[in-house]
Amino acid sequence: MINVFFAAAPARWPIYEDALRKAFAEAGLTVDLSLDHAPDQVDYIIYAPNSGVTDFTPFTRAKAVLNLWAGVENVVHDETLNIPLARMVETGLTDGMVEWVTAHVLRHHIGIDTNLRRQDGVWRQEVPPLAKDRRVTILGLGELGAACAKMLVQLKFDVRGWSRSAKSIEGVHCFSGDELDQALTGTDILVLLLPLTPATEDILNADRIALLAKGAVVLNPGRGALIDDDALLAALDSGHLKHATLDVFRTEPLPADHPYWSHPKVTVTPHVASETRAETSSQTIAENIRRAEAGLPLLHIVDRDRAY
Ligand code: NAP
Repeated sequence: MINVFFAAAPARWPIYEDALRKAFAEAGLTVDLSLDHAPDQVDYIIYAPNSGVTDFTPFTRAKAVLNLWAGVENVVHDETLNIPLARMVETGLTDGMVEWVTAHVLRHHIGIDTNLRRQDGVWRQEVPPLAKDRRVTILGLGELGAACAKMLVQLKFDVRGWSRSAKSIEGVHCFSGDELDQALTGTDILVLLLPLTPATEDILNADRIALLAKGAVVLNPGRGALIDDDALLAALDSGHLKHATLDVFRTEPLPADHPYWSHPKVTVTPHVASETRAETSSQTIAENIRRAEAGLPLLHIVDRDRAY
């Protein structure tokens, strides 16, 4: 019997319980899945940062922590965690992010707001450029960034991307490492899909915003602290940036008096760009437990030094 502890917000239990049991059965695993195993009896921890678990020391026989979220910034620096940590990669999460990014890129590319706003009886024929003439740059070409880049290539956007290691993605002009400024220069629509790490915090600062094309749009479904908020607000106010659509924030929920809520050039979405889906993520979790039990390396292991 494998003891699996579901350490996520209690409201998630009814959403996940059946999906996890089904996935374990399909993977041929005999699992006792529970919200309240004794810590020293737990083999695997399904974890979300809002679970209340902050000390992994009592989980003396646990073999791995399986994060329910793609982002691990809340757990990766935990010094009580000395077993492998896997982040979440699953098709539901990826598909949701592709939909959110594509929708918001198209909103700004076509200028949907302009016509929604101007129902004033005046016939203005302002035709947007084609996608091939709109440069979209994605910072982060991992699971989510690469999937979004591929969709935007399908739509024929001029797609650029930047990652730590060099990549090759058909139709995408890929930059890496110290080529960030080249990737940003002349960008019309910037998408942030980097993890939050010591190396990426405040990565979008005033100097880098200045490299974007005048009238550029910033989309941030990554993490709030990737952006220097004061620099972003200044660039929106000066007119260098046309709009920012922000899904993630340094403080969440975003405080009701935060300037982003009332800024005319900011769209706030409440961390809904994408969510881990119970059915598909349960398959990822079951597969990782199956692999660990078979002595195989886990999938999607977090590099603790890189912090993602
Ligand atoms: P991932 O597969 O780990 O990809 C991360 C990408 O960022 C990789 O391409 C990586 O480069 C690059 N990167 C990391 N540090 C870098 C650095 N210092 N310089 C240059 N590139 C760097 O992560 P993912 O699954 O795509 O998720 C990305 C982030 O999306 C998550 O960490 C999370 O914060 C966010 N997210 C948000 C939502 C939401 O609803 N808003 C939902 C899910 C995830 P390499 O490829 O070279 O490693």
